[in-house]
Amino acid sequence: MSTAMGPRPRPEILTIAPYIGGESHVPGVNRVLKLSSNEGAFGAPPGAQAAYIRLASEIFRYPDGAASDLRAAIGARFGLDPARIVCGNGSDDLIYQLALSYGGAGTELIMTRHGFSMYHIAGRYAGMRVIKVPERNLTADVDAILAAVSPATRLVCLANPNNPTGSLLTAREITRLRAGLPAEVLLLLDAAYAEYVTRTDYEPGAAFVDAGDNVVMTRTFSKIFGLGGLRLGWAYAPPAVIDVMNRVRNPFNTNAAAQAAAIAALAEPGWVEKSREHNTLWRQRLGDALRALGITIWPSEGNFLLADFATPERATAANAHLRERGIIVRPMGGYDLPHCLRITIGTAEECELVAAALSDFMAGTPHG
Ligand SMILES: *Cc1c(COP(=O)(O)O)cnc(C)c1O
Repeated sequence: MSTAMGPRPRPEILTIAPYIGGESHVPGVNRVLKLSSNEGAFGAPPGAQAAYIRLASEIFRYPDGAASDLRAAIGARFGLDPARIVCGNGSDDLIYQLALSYGGAGTELIMTRHGFSMYHIAGRYAGMRVIKVPERNLTADVDAILAAVSPATRLVCLANPNNPTGSLLTAREITRLRAGLPAEVLLLLDAAYAEYVTRTDYEPGAAFVDAGDNVVMTRTFSKIFGLGGLRLGWAYAPPAVIDVMNRVRNPFNTNAAAQAAAIAALAEPGWVEKSREHNTLWRQRLGDALRALGITIWPSEGNFLLADFATPERATAANAHLRERGIIVRPMGGYDLPHCLRITIGTAEECELVAAALSDFMAGTPHG
């Protein structure tokens, strides 16, 4: 805490509520199921683990600050020019750098009401006014976003699919959003969950980046690639934005272990396919099971479900019930959804344990 006499941060810093991550422990419970951070259901790819271990004797060396081999591997995998890729210490790092570079005092960042909370933190850090626009059915509303644009707008941040709601804007809607934005507004399409999407009317963002100068797509190794602990994200952006990012980012913002593990994760045979198939199956099964219990489950394109318990009291009681059984999910008060819990799709066994625990809960407590 700052005192009246001591060093004082910029006033907007103290308006930032610290990010609350998913918990990993419940006091008094030995074995927990951590379904609170949307980490992949299958852990880290075996090849990535081996690459990480192989690197052990080399960790005295500085990493390749340009992450050249990794950018080449990402480019090959996704059919993108490595010169238009920049890597970050998680995609959170890249979101910060974009806000700090394009924002500043007197500028505005637009996000949606239940958008990913890092946009708010990064925007405030950059001295920006953060405007949260209404959604429709927990889905971003292109018209509401466009209506909020002012001469001060510098950045529009949209997770697609969105966390925590799971909702998605189609390629058509993103086309409309992009077409309606002034040329000087940067559109950040955060596609952290792109690999989980099976809909054919979806485009993660590369096509929009290629179509102009004001779209950036961010991606991450933290979700389907199972490397959240190593912190690695990347952005695909127009050359002018890449130039800016390479000026301001920490020169060694991605570490050597993360680079090696990520290259191996990209090469893991069938990993993404297996993970996506599992997710599609169990997202549907768990969703159906919970709906059958009378819980409202929002449609999700990610590796999580937003379970709606109608009131904050019931969501809190359901969360307490799950915790007593060692199941950690994510309470949503910070997202203005205090009546909801976000549940990551885990293994088949984990999904079944969640369904059984919530079945108990619904049977044991009066509701309706
Ligand atoms: C998990 C997540 C990320 C990934 O963040 P990293 O810093 O790469 O771990 C980015 N955006 C959204 C919307 C997410 O849910």
